[in-house]
Amino acid sequence: MMNGTQYLESLKRRSPRIFYRGKRLANPYDHPALAPHVRTAAVTYDLAANGKHDDIMTATSALDGTKISRFTHLFWSVDDLIRKIAMLRLIGRETGTCFQRCVGVDGINAIWSVTYEIDRAKGTGYHKRFREFLLRLQREDLMSAGAMTDPKGDRSLPPWQQADPDLYVRIVERRSDGIVIRGSKTHITGAANSHEILVMPTLGLPPEGADYAVTCAVPIDAPGVTVVFGRQTNDERKEEEGRFDCGTPFGIVGGESTLIFEDVFVPDERVFMAGEGEFAGALVERFSAWHRANYGGCKGGNADVLLGATALLAEIHGTIKNAVVRDKLTEIVHLVETNYAGAVGSSALARQLPAGNWLVDPLLANTVKQNVTRFVYQVARLTHDIAGGILSTLPSDADFRSGEIGGLLEKYFAGKQGFSTGDKRKLIRYIEGMTSVATLVEALHGAGSPQAQRIVMLRQADLPEKARQAKKVIGIKDGDPKDK
Ligand SMILES: Cc1cc2nc3c(=O)[nH]c(=O)nc-3n(C[C@H](O)[C@H](O)[C@H](O)COP(=O)(O)OP(=O)(O)OC[C@H]3O[C@@H](n4cnc5c(N)ncnc54)[C@H](O)[C@@H]3O)c2cc1C
Repeated sequence: MMNGTQYLESLKRRSPRIFYRGKRLANPYDHPALAPHVRTAAVTYDLAANGKHDDIMTATSALDGTKISRFTHLFWSVDDLIRKIAMLRLIGRETGTCFQRCVGVDGINAIWSVTYEIDRAKGTGYHKRFREFLLRLQREDLMSAGAMTDPKGDRSLPPWQQADPDLYVRIVERRSDGIVIRGSKTHITGAANSHEILVMPTLGLPPEGADYAVTCAVPIDAPGVTVVFGRQTNDERKEEEGRFDCGTPFGIVGGESTLIFEDVFVPDERVFMAGEGEFAGALVERFSAWHRANYGGCKGGNADVLLGATALLAEIHGTIKNAVVRDKLTEIVHLVETNYAGAVGSSALARQLPAGNWLVDPLLANTVKQNVTRFVYQVARLTHDIAGGILSTLPSDADFRSGEIGGLLEKYFAGKQGFSTGDKRKLIRYIEGMTSVATLVEALHGAGSPQAQRIVMLRQADLPEKARQAKKVIGIKDGDPKDK
């Protein structure tokens, strides 16, 4: 396994084509826009390598028996799934933000299970290939991004009816030794600082959409791959000296990028689905179920920091002992732990898939994510309420440092004795960042928009079965009109 420093060095040995604000970055991993996110992902390496959290951060590979990072591990049991949620909470509270690596671990589990089933049904050799790829991922401790979401153009049309057929990633050429893909994946968390991109379809596909049924692994610096790093809330602040107004040395959300594939050749050994559209739906559903459960873990960890920061600010404001303020903090606890319970519960009720790994309970997992789309907003509102208007009007760090007016600002922004205005400003900036639109939208749309969960929830809830049960309990008999 690598530690954080080795992870950074491993990234610097690659030369991906990364653009940010109109320019190609010569040293992307040192750039102030990316560096906080690299630093955050590095924590996932340090926590695994330092030996202090082995039971949570590491696992034993079922493929070769070696000790590996849990981020490259397959979920072999309920215990593995619960430990994953515990890991996400731990890292969430160590970083206070999105640490990006969970997309990849859910991606490898989805691909593992689906390649097994494609091979069984069609006699293909995808699973063996994927096993070899995964072994390398485990041995080299590589970070993989999960790239599922296409730009999708006109959402009322399927991929093959779009005015531009490239609006979903597709196979444009099949060669004797591999395939050529074209298209784009967007919003991809941690992509710029990943070693590998796991390309997966975003929806189930009928035969006419077979070219869009593509799953493969592409190195981040493969010829033809372009990474466009997105703009983020307050990202210019990252470039300010001292980073004070940024509020955290770590990034806000996961450093998302748009990936562009301009006729990228993918050799056979990296291709895990090429046309088997009837399996694409299962891949998406399983990936989404694992991924949606995650949010009860990582957001819980982030909220631990947010709750702590809000309580500290209330102490500085002198409001912490007030019963109403304490009740608002209690409400945050309730919202966060409800989600955590759902994540652990969906793991506890997992079932084994034919390929051997375990899938969380989809109904509970989707319920977790549905709650996250609401609760993270509610938590943000409560923190804004407790923090006060200063959250949106605080003068800049430069003003506080100004020889001319800094002293006056220090005087007028003082809080409870024993705390500096610097501490107060740091807390405010952290709360501001972690309740900004970037964070809220990640909670809303990351791992799928609310409606995507509601579709699964209603299907999983099995209304006909519940109606039968209602009839049985209430004493309603089928098919006798005289009873009506
Ligand atoms: C911070 C962040 C990180 C992310 N990380 C990743 C990642 O690592 N990997 C990845 O693959 N994806 C990632 N995503 C993408 C995420 O999965 C998508 O944002 C999500 O699936 C919604 O897709 P969309 O953004 O295209 O919105 P849309 O699908 O356009 O949804 C917008 C609204 O339109 C509705 N809608 C969509 N289609 C229809 C239709 N046909 N008819 C009626 N209504 C419709 C939706 O329900 C929603 O209300 C991330 C997103 C965010 C915000």
